Amino acid sequence: MLDYSKSFIEEQFPVAKVSKESYRERKAGRSQTLTGLGKWWGRKPLILVRAALFGALLPVSDDKKKDKEVFLRILTMDYDGLRKRAEFQNSKKKDYVAPWGVTYETILNESCRPEEIDGPSEESWKVINEHLETNATTLQELAQQLGQKRYGHIPRIGDCFAGGGSNVFEPARMGCDVYGSDLNPLAGVLTWADLNILGSSKEELAELQEFQEKVFDAVCAEIDAMGIERNEEGHVAKYYLYCNETVCPECGYKVPMLPSLIVSKKERLVVQFEEREDKSFAMHLVRAKDLKEVDKHATVQKNALVCPHCHKTTSVTAIRGGEDGAYLRKWEKSDFVPREDDIYQERLYAIKYVHVKKKGKTIYCLRKKP
Ligand SMILES: [Zn+2]
Repeated sequence: MLDYSKSFIEEQFPVAKVSKESYRERKAGRSQTLTGLGKWWGRKPLILVRAALFGALLPVSDDKKKDKEVFLRILTMDYDGLRKRAEFQNSKKKDYVAPWGVTYETILNESCRPEEIDGPSEESWKVINEHLETNATTLQELAQQLGQKRYGHIPRIGDCFAGGGSNVFEPARMGCDVYGSDLNPLAGVLTWADLNILGSSKEELAELQEFQEKVFDAVCAEIDAMGIERNEEGHVAKYYLYCNETVCPECGYKVPMLPSLIVSKKERLVVQFEEREDKSFAMHLVRAKDLKEVDKHATVQKNALVCPHCHKTTSVTAIRGGEDGAYLRKWEKSDFVPREDDIYQERLYAIKYVHVKKKGKTIYCLRKKP
């Protein structure tokens, strides 16, 4: 007799096995299904979600042992399922035979993840359907039939803090209706992408890719036309290094404020100042023999400005106009660069470019027009 007033998960749950499978999924690193779309901290392993879903949908019977056997068969975490997963994983090896009578770990190490195969074997489906009085041939059909029996409709899953999307992605993949929401917009985008990109057909995906490429090309063309991301050699800018600049109260020179003059430790690239006639400094990128002494000439040391011209020291607090920052002002909505009379100006002093010919190689360049 099946009892739908209770769920399998309320009576038992094979924690050790689900843990091992979850650990295995986590260790798969980049080949995990959802991580490719974006990082999310604490994203639930999909096998854990699948186990919780079927654990909640499954009724209980008088035969606890049989209930557990059926549950493990659904998740392909029984020997029959593990053998199917091991054979799939090793399908390229000639004459591969999955081991028999070994520990769970041993065969698990040779197996793919449950989500990589289409579900239980035919033999398992017979056992599952007989016990649950269903006639499913796929996991989706099973979830829907169990939902009909328990609720009178296809199961609906909701997650009001969907995060990385596992809790809605996996039930959707199992044929359930899903609803997800989150306060964090990044979580919203990730979950949307899980469902609409990973969950789309090959045709839809090809269409999406074509659209993405079109947008990417159009944006690239526009940026190229503006001439802001490529230099004279055609190298593409990767990032821009800015510092603040302020006037030394002692001598009136405009001083770039740098707590460290090192631009790249690996390439031993450092900033060198050269005085200009207009009481400012040209900034050159030079290769240093040794980085040890370089920052003794940094222009910000111990929260004070050290002027490279007059060598006098002024505390940053004094430059700001005291503790309450009397010389500072709030930026308006329309401000995106400092105004001429602001005490802090911005100074672009180096750009890292991706080499146009040597793919992946990056180079630092001095800005041509300082
Ligand atoms: Zn000075």
